[in-house]
Amino acid sequence: MTIMENLESGAGRLGLQLSTKQLEQFHTYWEELVEWNRRVNLTGITGYHEVQTKHFLDSLTIYLAWPPTGVNTTIRIIDVGTGSGIPGVPLKIVFPEVHLVLLEATEKKTAFLHHISSRLMLTDVEIVAGRAEDTAHQKQYRDSFDIVVSRAVAPMVTLAELALPFCKVGGRFIAQKKGNLIPEINRAERAIKLLGGRLREVMNVELEEFPDERQLVIIDKELATPGLYPRRPGIPSKRPLS
Ligand code: SAH
Repeated sequence: MTIMENLESGAGRLGLQLSTKQLEQFHTYWEELVEWNRRVNLTGITGYHEVQTKHFLDSLTIYLAWPPTGVNTTIRIIDVGTGSGIPGVPLKIVFPEVHLVLLEATEKKTAFLHHISSRLMLTDVEIVAGRAEDTAHQKQYRDSFDIVVSRAVAPMVTLAELALPFCKVGGRFIAQKKGNLIPEINRAERAIKLLGGRLREVMNVELEEFPDERQLVIIDKELATPGLYPRRPGIPSKRPLS
């Protein structure tokens, strides 16, 4: 029986060969998403084919922006505003060695994250119920991640304040974005610099599955973020740094 065939073929074009075990994990992830979505509002996308591309394959495109050092046992990744685990959980399924932190403010969603990570028997996954504005000031999370990822959480200027404090100097923040980004990036430029980042590249995702201009915004962390940031919960979006 073939399962998750759209995902398998798309991932292949990203240079990722998925094993039977991984495809089965993705299949279970889809089933559980659909099941939980009846009670908890996790996603508007539930169809078998749509979830494979719009959630799972989309998550794996992060791999295109991976640093040249690659994936090894010591790498630490945090997904800021992960919701139902996107893009963090698909990355963990494909790269089981990474240490993954899933950060999510809504407790109903973190309940799902606990459920799915035990259902998929994922190890070395930490689920944090909280807001980035608070968590980023905790010592064990601040300036400590090799890679910070985030999808569909906030405009770039706000997102930079929520995400860059987690990144260690020499690490990288990868944001998944859609559509015309130029104004959004222009507005964020000063904030990125202030927070210790430097815009490295806006990379187009060239896969036939995504005709809707998807991009990866890649920001290098060059300097430690000043201790003031992020500001109190809600402020980064209410009064963006620009
Ligand atoms: N990344 C997921 C979810 C996007 S929805 C996906 O692409 O499918 C945005 C999620 O970010 C919501 O679940 C919301 O609760 C969470 N979120 C928004 N602001 C946050 C913050 N400041 N700290 C932590 N989580 C946040």
